[in-house]
Amino acid sequence: MGEFDLIARYFTRPARRSPLGVGDDCALLQPQPGMQLAVSTDLLLEGRHFLSTVDPRRLGHKALAVNLSDLAACGASPLAFTLALALPRVDEPWLAAFAEGLFALADAHDCELVGGDTTRGPLAINITVFGEVPTGQALLRSGARSGDDVWVSGTLGDARLALEAFRGTVSLPQDIFDAARLRLEQPTPRVALGLALRGLATAAIDLSDGLAGDLGHILARSGVGATLEAERLPTTHALDLVLNAGDDYELAFTAPAARRAEVEAAGRHANTPVSRIGRIEAAPGLRVVDAQGRPVDVRAASFDHFA
Ligand code: ADP
Ligand code: MG
Repeated sequence: MGEFDLIARYFTRPARRSPLGVGDDCALLQPQPGMQLAVSTDLLLEGRHFLSTVDPRRLGHKALAVNLSDLAACGASPLAFTLALALPRVDEPWLAAFAEGLFALADAHDCELVGGDTTRGPLAINITVFGEVPTGQALLRSGARSGDDVWVSGTLGDARLALEAFRGTVSLPQDIFDAARLRLEQPTPRVALGLALRGLATAAIDLSDGLAGDLGHILARSGVGATLEAERLPTTHALDLVLNAGDDYELAFTAPAARRAEVEAAGRHANTPVSRIGRIEAAPGLRVVDAQGRPVDVRAASFDHFA
C-alpha cells in the first residue's frame, strides 16, 4: 500500500467545521470572529515516550490527548489537528486500531484531522493541534499572584506508578496496575475544565513532567513562590512520586482566594474533581508543609513505599 492509499484509507474524513481538510497543499481553518488561534505540538517517539508493546488504540488516543491537554491548559476550545507519522512498515491492523483510538477522542472533542505528512522511518507520531480562545482570555503561566490559591485537577502519580511497574521497580496487585496503566496509556485531557476556568484562573499549566517542575514553570513565569500542603495532594502515593511523576495530564492552576466557590463550581460544571493544595506567596521557591505547617523533607520519601 502506497502513501496516498494509506492516507485515503485511514486518515481521510470529510471536514465539517474547517473550510478545507485533508487532500490539498494546505488545510484552511476558520476561527470564529473575536477568537485567537491557540497552537500546540507534541512529538512522541517509540522507546522514549511510549513502549513498543502499547495497544495502538491507546497510542492513538494518547497522541491526541497530550495535545488537547495543552489546549485545556490555555482555556482553548479544540478546532482541528494535523498528524505527521513516521512508520517502519505498513501494518494495516496497527493503523486501523491507531486510527480508531485517535478518532474516538477527536470526535469526543469535535476536533477534526485536517492534514499531515506520512513517511517511512522509526515509529514517531507528531500531532499539531489548533484551538480557539476569545482574544486576550487564554490562560497563561505568568498570571499567578501572591495570595492566590493553588489547585490541581483529578489525582496525581498514577501514570508514574504504572511506569515504575513496567520498569520492575515496584510490583502491584493486578487491579491497581490495570487502573494505573489506563492513566498512563489513556490520559483524559481536561478540556472542559480549562474552558470553565477562563476568566477565573490567574495561571494554568498541564502536568506532563510532574507537579514540582510544572508548577515551577508557573512560579518562574509569574515571579512568585508557593507552599503546598502535603495532606491536600489528591493521591494515595508517596510524596516524591507525586511531585516528580510525569504523564498525569491533569491541570495545575491558580485562582484568587476570594473565588474558591467559583472554582469548585467550575469543577462541578466540568465534571472534574478539583483540589486546593496550597497558596502562592511572594517568596520564590516551592515549599511543602504537613498539616501542622512543618516543612516536609521531600527527598525522605521514596519508591520503597510501594515495595
Ligand atoms: P505534500 O506533498 O504537499 O506535503 P502529501 O503528499 O504529503 O502533501 O500529502 C497529501 C495530503 O494528505 C495533504 O493534504 C496532507 O495534509 C495529507 N496527509 C498526509 N499524511 C497525512 C496523515 N498522516 N494524516 C492526515 N492527512 C495526511
Ligand atoms: Mg508531504
